[in-house]
Parts: sequence; structure tokens; C-alpha cells
Amino acid sequence: MLWPHARIRHARNVEVQERVATVRRDHPESEVWLGLLDAALAESENGAPWDAAVPTLASERPVKAPALSHSEITVDARAARNWVRRLLKLTPTVNPRQIDGLALLEAAVCHDDTRIDALAAAASAEPHALRVLGQMAALPLLQACARRLASELPATWWEGYCPLCGAWPVVAEYTGLERKRRLRCGRCGTGWAIPLLRCVFCDETEHDHLGYLTPEAGEQTRKIEVCHTCKGYVKGFTTVRALAPWAILLDDLTTVPLDVAALERGYRRPERPGYRLECRIMERQGWGRLVKAGGGWWRSLRRGLHHPPAPPPSSTDLRQGEA
Ligand SMILES: [Zn+2]
Ligand SMILES: [Zn+2]
Repeated sequence: MLWPHARIRHARNVEVQERVATVRRDHPESEVWLGLLDAALAESENGAPWDAAVPTLASERPVKAPALSHSEITVDARAARNWVRRLLKLTPTVNPRQIDGLALLEAAVCHDDTRIDALAAAASAEPHALRVLGQMAALPLLQACARRLASELPATWWEGYCPLCGAWPVVAEYTGLERKRRLRCGRCGTGWAIPLLRCVFCDETEHDHLGYLTPEAGEQTRKIEVCHTCKGYVKGFTTVRALAPWAILLDDLTTVPLDVAALERGYRRPERPGYRLECRIMERQGWGRLVKAGGGWWRSLRRGLHHPPAPPPSSTDLRQGEA
């Protein structure tokens, strides 16, 4: 059977479907990961609840802070929890009932692995599995933010981490005839230009300290860009047109041999996040929104539904009522 998880929604975009099916066939060892990504891409297509959660950007943030830094993201709590629970059910090592979906979503968006590990420990879950799952859970929200906030990003961005969500890039892309270097974020899909001779991770610009590895002699379209100063690496692809946001992580998976080659030569990706976002996920759930906006009148309305209206209080009644 092509789709092993019948209860999960799959992407409707035919191009995505075909690509996922091909990768699934060629990489059976990555089935669990692909199941999560497939679900995240489908959820991303179902954009409405996530588009509605795209925040207004914080007006005061440090110069080098990504756009989502210090933002308050109000999600439809029920839809968001259901979404995370659906993903958790795809991961055999995690019991979905023991994980607070919104806490996981917030920690993942912030790239806070310490908080994710604490959630994993409390639920006796495997921490690495929960980290991966958290990132997949955050993907629809972050891709919606990228779609809606692209015009608010700075025209130039000199940092190695994503100008929107703070993640390190998955790939450096060289597109079209110009072949300018453009980094791509695997979480939100944002792309940003950066000079050729500059390490993504430590800002090294000395060309003697920067280099690249190619998988085979004569290979022109794929390489590994390395920095001798921090020992970091990023994969570099030459492409005819820019990768679609959904394709970035699929390409990342199909080029794992490049990662292996880099690791075997002592290069690595930093464990620390590019930039810790410190944003908050807030709940929007029906009446809850009115409480924030209108100051609590609905509470008395709800009480009125269960109890007959009380007569106007006298001073003695009041004391009794409070006892
Ligand atoms: Zn990003
Ligand atoms: Zn470096």
C-alpha cells in the first residue's frame, strides 16, 4: 500500500504527492520521518487556521532578531492541539495523551530543545523523536507566517540564520544564470541572499578558511560548503529555479550522503539554534477572545445559564454571598 497511515490527510498538490511517493519508495528507512513530513505538508496546504494565527510583528526588537522574535501568536487552541495529537499518533514511541500540544508547539517554534526534552522526560518519551516531531508540528504555522510576512522582512539580511524564524539554513541555493548564493530555511521556507565568501555559522570571511567538498570529481550541482574555523558545513545545490518551500526538507533527506561525507571529515552542524525566538503561543478558543477584549461580562452570562438571576444584593446578602 502506498500510504501506510490511512487516517492522516495527505497533500493534495499532485507535484508534492509524486515527490513524496518517490522519496518514500527510494528511502524506506525514513518512513516515520516521511510520514510526519507528509502530514505537515498537507496541514500546511490546509492554511486557513494557520493563516489566521500569523501575528503582528513586535515593533521593538533587537536589530539582529528575526521577525518572529518576541511575537505573540494566537492560535485556535483546539485545532492546534488536534493537529499535534494527529502527529503524535504517527510516532510509536510517544504517548499522545501525555504531551501538551501547545507547549510542544511553542517550544518548537522557539527552537528550545531544553523545554522539548523536559516535555519528553515528563511523558517518558524519547527526546530526539519529540524534537523532530515538534519541528514538524511547527511547520504549517511557520510556513503560513512566511507566506504572509514576506513583505515585512528586511531587504538585506547579513546573518546566517533565517530572518523570519531564526533557524539555520538547510541549504545554500544557486539559482538561474546569476548563481547568487541564497540560503533557504527548512522550517518556514524563507530564502535570503548572503555573500559567497562568508561562513553561515561563525561569519568567517577569510577565503583561506572557507572551502567546499564535492561528492565526485566533476560534480557541478551539489557540494558541501565547509568552514575550517568553526568546522560547520552547509549543503550547496545549483538549481534551475528556486526550491518550493515544501521541497526543501525532501531534498535535505535525499542528499543525506552529503551529510555523511561532511561528518566523516569532521564537519558538523551546530547544535545551538541560530537564534532563540522567545515568542509565545496564546490560545484563542471561542469565548476566550471576548474575555481578553471585553473584560469578563460573559462570565456572568454563563453563570446565568445555570442559575436563576439573583435579586439585587443588599449589604447583608453581600456578606453571605461572599462567605
Ligand atoms: Zn525560517
Ligand atoms: Zn565558520
